[in-house]
Amino acid sequence: MVPIRRAQGVWLEDYDGKRYLDAISSWWVNLFGHAHPRLDAALRDQVGTLEHVILAGFTHAPAIELAERLVEVAPAGLTRVQYADNGSSAVEIALKLAFHHCRNRGDTRRTQFVALAGGYHGETLGALSVTDIPLYRETYAPLLLTPLTTMSPDATQAEPGETAFDVATRAADALDALLAEHGDTVCALIIEPRVQCAAGMRMHDPEYLRRARAACDRHGVVLILDEIAVGFGRTGTLFACEQAGIAPDLMCLSKGLTGGYLPLSAVLATEAIYQSFYDEYTKLRAFLHSHSYTGNALGCRVALEVLNVFRDEPVLERNRALAAHLANAIAPLRDHPNVRHVRQTGMIAAFDLVDAQGRAFDWSERRGLRVVRHGLERGALLRPLGHTVYFMPPYCITPDEIDFMVGVAREGVELAIA
Ligand SMILES: *Cc1c(COP(=O)(O)O)cnc(C)c1O
Repeated sequence: MVPIRRAQGVWLEDYDGKRYLDAISSWWVNLFGHAHPRLDAALRDQVGTLEHVILAGFTHAPAIELAERLVEVAPAGLTRVQYADNGSSAVEIALKLAFHHCRNRGDTRRTQFVALAGGYHGETLGALSVTDIPLYRETYAPLLLTPLTTMSPDATQAEPGETAFDVATRAADALDALLAEHGDTVCALIIEPRVQCAAGMRMHDPEYLRRARAACDRHGVVLILDEIAVGFGRTGTLFACEQAGIAPDLMCLSKGLTGGYLPLSAVLATEAIYQSFYDEYTKLRAFLHSHSYTGNALGCRVALEVLNVFRDEPVLERNRALAAHLANAIAPLRDHPNVRHVRQTGMIAAFDLVDAQGRAFDWSERRGLRVVRHGLERGALLRPLGHTVYFMPPYCITPDEIDFMVGVAREGVELAIA
C-alpha cells in the first residue's frame, strides 16, 4: 500500500514527499489531472449551496443542466438521461431498461443478453453476468445470468495476413450468425466500443460497431454501448462510437464523467426507449430503479464543469498531439523481442510481454508485478493487466512526462523478463 497525501496534475505524492506519475489516471477515472483548478472551484461553489437532495419528486439545477448538456454532446438520438452513482449501477440500469423496454413492447420472449468474449462491465451480479473475465467471474458463476457470448473483434487475434478490419468482419459475421439463430429471444447486445479495457486494452476496428448496429436493427435488439472507460475523449473523439458513425440505444457513462472527482454515472437513452416506459396509469410499465445518491448535486456540478472544460479548451486537439508523441515514444518497443502487439487508440497505449520464443507468459507467472514494483521505485504508477503493460495518463501530461513514463515501463520490461 502506498498512502497518498496529495496529488497535483499527473503527480501523486506520498507522506515522504516521493512523487509518482499517475500513468493510469487512477484506474481510468481522471481526465484533466488531479486538483484541477476549475473542477476544484466548481465543487467549492456547490458546497454550501446544495450538496444533495432526493431525486424522486425533486430535482436541482446541476442535475437538469448536466442532463441537457450530456444530450447536447451525445451521439444523435440519445435524448434522455437516467442517473446513478457508479459504473456498475449504470450497466445494471441499462440491462434492466433493455429487458423492460422489450416487455413494454409486448415482446416477452426477449430475456437474453449477448456479450463479447473478454468484455468487462463491472462486478455487481448483473454487470458481472455480462463480463467475460474469468478472474472476476469464476467464483460467482453459479449466481450469474448466462449470456450468449460472441467472438471479440480484438485485433490482436489477427491471423497472418489478416488486418484489424478483417478480424472485425470475422467477429461481426459470428455475431450475425448468433443473432440469426437466437435474435428473437435477445433483448440487448452490450459492447465496450473501440477498446475492451479490462481484458487488456484489446482494441478493434470501428467496422465492428457499424456491423453490430446493423445487426441489432435487423433483429430488434437494443444496442448498449458501455463508454464508461472510453468516453470523454479517451480514444480521440468525445465518445468512442463516433469513430464508427453510429449511436447506441443506451449508453453508459461514468469514470471520466466527473473528471475523476466523485462517483456518478448516467445512462443515456433514445426517445423510443423512454416513451415505452412513459405511462401515467399502468404502474408496471414504469422503470423502478433508485439509488440513494442518484444524481448527487456535487457530482453533477463537477461533471458540468468537465463539460465546460471540453467546451472552452481544445482538449481533443491537444490530445491528438499528445497521442502522436506517445506513439513515437512507444514505437521502439515494436522491435523488442519480448514485446508483442504494440497498439494505441488515442490516449490509450498498450503492449504485451512475451517470452524469448514470442509466447504469452502463463497468467500465474505474474511478471507484470515486476513492472509495478519498478514503477513505484522510479516514481510511476503503472499497473499492468496480467502481462499487458499499458498507459492511460491524464490529458495534462507533458511530452517530457510521456517520455519518462514510457522509459520507466521499458526498464520494467527488462526486469520482468530477466
Ligand atoms: C470500470 C468499468 C465499469 C464499472 O464501473 P465501476 O464504477 O467500477 O462500477 C463498467 N464498464 C467498464 C467498461 C469499465 O471500465
